[in-house]
Amino acid sequence: MSLNAFITETTIEGDDDGPLSDKTVAVKDNISTEGVRTTCGSAMLKSYVPPYDATVVEHLKEAGATIVGKANMDEFGMGGTTETSAYGPVKNPVDEAHVPGGSSGGSAAAVAAGEADLALGSDTGGSVRNPAAFCGVVGIKPTYGLVSRYGLVAYANSLEQIGPLGQTVEDAAALLDVIAGPDPSDATTRFDSGGGTGEESDGDSTHPGTEASYAAAADGDVEGTTVGVITDLLDGADDRVVETFEAALDDLRSQGAETVEVSLDSVEHAVQAYYVIAMSEASSNLARFDGVRYGTSGGYEGNWNDAFARAREEGFGEEVKRRILLGTYALSAGYHDKYYKKAQDARAWVKQDFDDAFERADVLATPTMPVLPPRLGESLDDPLQLYLMDANTVPVNLANLPAISVPAGEADGLPVGLQLIGPKFGEAAIVRAASAVE
Ligand code: GLN
Repeated sequence: MSLNAFITETTIEGDDDGPLSDKTVAVKDNISTEGVRTTCGSAMLKSYVPPYDATVVEHLKEAGATIVGKANMDEFGMGGTTETSAYGPVKNPVDEAHVPGGSSGGSAAAVAAGEADLALGSDTGGSVRNPAAFCGVVGIKPTYGLVSRYGLVAYANSLEQIGPLGQTVEDAAALLDVIAGPDPSDATTRFDSGGGTGEESDGDSTHPGTEASYAAAADGDVEGTTVGVITDLLDGADDRVVETFEAALDDLRSQGAETVEVSLDSVEHAVQAYYVIAMSEASSNLARFDGVRYGTSGGYEGNWNDAFARAREEGFGEEVKRRILLGTYALSAGYHDKYYKKAQDARAWVKQDFDDAFERADVLATPTMPVLPPRLGESLDDPLQLYLMDANTVPVNLANLPAISVPAGEADGLPVGLQLIGPKFGEAAIVRAASAVE
């Protein structure tokens, strides 16, 4: 039985040689592919064919990769189980009664099932790490600005990055090597040697992705590494998840790592802050889907407001509508200070807390997801419960940091992921520590 990992199966050949010339790659369906339909998991874009490639797709082609399909996903990336896709849910290859996680569920399922060697996903609040954890594969959310977002259909652009998935840490890191780097088409990939503080820029040659080899960092050497365990994020987690997580930490200690406990007071506010910011940005980013500029038109010839409303009524699913409404509300004149501004304050606090934690530890560890993969159909009725599932992943996006999810073991036959978080542009450190977990 098909897992429904792909919305569109296709073959896009890359150049003849390159580091990925023997690899197949699944590309999440919110990443633009020239001449190949890109739906974002939405009926709104069911016949949208981009006229250009995303920068990461250009990099894949230059590296010789063969793209085998556009991977299924939650509609516009809004979800954590791949059940909000207009093209039907994806099954978890480890146990088909369960969800693969999301929103990059098709990408993770394709890799876990061997339908592609590698995959690209996008991670706004966990959407690469969550399905990597639930499907038992590796996923990396890069530091904001490491990878170009040009050609990624925006959900919440201040939070998201395109990230790689693979069967092993080294595979995922090798794909990161291919996609990382500055891009004149995405100003947020500009690297200032002053750490983005506005000091003089050395230009693109100092971009951390230009010289790095992340794959080479997967050497398993954690001797002398200090791993900070974020205790606040263990409290609400499922016991079976915590047990598997602790066993993986024991294993790291036996390889010479030291663990310390760290507490981040701000993280209890992270989910609220994330959803206010993500929905606010989404309400603006999704305004272009009006049936005229982008999206299916309702075929309606009344006045403009009616036509616009009809196209969006028909084209968007329930979760997307909920978020546009809530985001519009949070940004509205009377409530802006109460919600959006407060959320930005919380975001600054989360960043500060991480900075302080990295004074005491080289990398930070949490379970990637506080729960085991839910059964298909189990979680859709309760959006709040779904949002809370993102407690461990969203702080990383709020702080624009890099993080990796690596399989830590299984509980009740279902995969458990361990998340390692690094300081800004500390991808090599999290790749190294994750390769010791494998
Ligand atoms: N589950 C989160 C959300 O729905 C994360 C999604 C993502 O990273 N694209 O917003």
